Amino acid sequence: MASPPLALTFVQSASKAEQLPDCGPLVALVGRSNVGKSSLVNALSGRKALANVSKTPGRTQLINVFAIESGGALVDLPGFGYANVSKSVRATWPAMIENFLLESPDLRMVLALVDGEIGPAKLDVQLLAWLREHQLPHQVVATKHDKVKSSQRERRKKELSAGCQLDRSDVMWVSAAKNTGIDELRDQIRLYVS
Ligand code: GDP
Repeated sequence: MASPPLALTFVQSASKAEQLPDCGPLVALVGRSNVGKSSLVNALSGRKALANVSKTPGRTQLINVFAIESGGALVDLPGFGYANVSKSVRATWPAMIENFLLESPDLRMVLALVDGEIGPAKLDVQLLAWLREHQLPHQVVATKHDKVKSSQRERRKKELSAGCQLDRSDVMWVSAAKNTGIDELRDQIRLYVS
């Protein structure tokens, strides 16, 4: 069933959990650069350029918070493993991400994005192991569903979920380009922050 767009408003960028205002229950988005995180935020909100805020210079390496009108907030964490930044900057990202994830009492769910066409990559597997180790609630979301040929989808879904050490039914598949799975993910996010 169609789910109305998530009405999102950019609130703030921050580098630490304690700098954030109280936004109520939080859902965090995390994944490697280029996984399709910004496209997904746009698709969830039904707005074309909302997530550009997270891509403006100076904000790409920060935690960007979007309030959900109905309550709670979506937290866009910086994409990790990006090759185009200096080593020292890259080294600080995981620490910032880890700090946020471990020190946010209002965190309800981590959406761990994995590139549906090519994932999971080594870094994705490491992130999932870390989330499990710290017993943080998380849901794997495979992106770019439309990029996988329909004849290969079953195999790809099997491969990706096995690579994440999950059952096929544990992974949500989305396409920001074709809106596949977006309604379901909106409903899930509403549930997480309710
Ligand atoms: P981010 O770095 O994680 O924010 O990734 P972007 O949202 O900028 O997406 C990275 C690239 O993947 C861009 O070229 C997007 O157009 C493309 N992309 C993202 N989502 C989809 C999708 O659902 N389908 C297709 N075909 N391409 C996508």
